[in-house]
Amino acid sequence: MNIVCCDLEGVFVPEIWINVAKKTGIDELRLTTRDISDYDVLMKKRLAILADHGLKLADIADVIATIDPLEGALEFLTWLRKQTQVIIVSDTFTQFAGPLMEKLLLPTLFCNTLTIGDDGAIVDYNLRQKDGKRQTVLALRTLNYHITAMGDSYNDTGMLAEADLGILFRPPENVVREFPQFPVATDYDTVRELLADSLAK
Ligand SMILES: [Mg+2]
Repeated sequence: MNIVCCDLEGVFVPEIWINVAKKTGIDELRLTTRDISDYDVLMKKRLAILADHGLKLADIADVIATIDPLEGALEFLTWLRKQTQVIIVSDTFTQFAGPLMEKLLLPTLFCNTLTIGDDGAIVDYNLRQKDGKRQTVLALRTLNYHITAMGDSYNDTGMLAEADLGILFRPPENVVREFPQFPVATDYDTVRELLADSLAK
């Protein structure tokens, strides 16, 4: 039996925070883990920026609702879900991912959550567990699955390393250089080719 774990942002949809920055005009929200390596510091900073601008969950959800999946993403994912079981494993939050998951026809999603105040403000974030992407693959291994994992960036490399097959999808150059052990796909057709053997297991 095989199963596929896919990252969300950069694989099926554009980067959510970058788009929120673009659409709200708040440049500081472009900060990523490349600028601030500590995820907790980065998230607290993002939430403080939203609070400073008086932006609540509904405002961000409105912006996210205007984001569309990447070209060809829905077709590829729909095809893949007919071949095998697919889990989207993401560092995003259920409250942000909702509108995008509807556009992807509601695949299974493992991610994190936000704490929302009575006034609709985003007051905190909650990681489901530390290192959740990698832990997902480790858990599936105990269920005796042959696991393929696909992602685009640093935060996926732990998950890719634990999988039977790890695929980098449209990764930045530095990730390609640092992780030469993973095959690289820049389009969904190449992913289909790379998956062929795994889907037969
Ligand atoms: Mg990603």
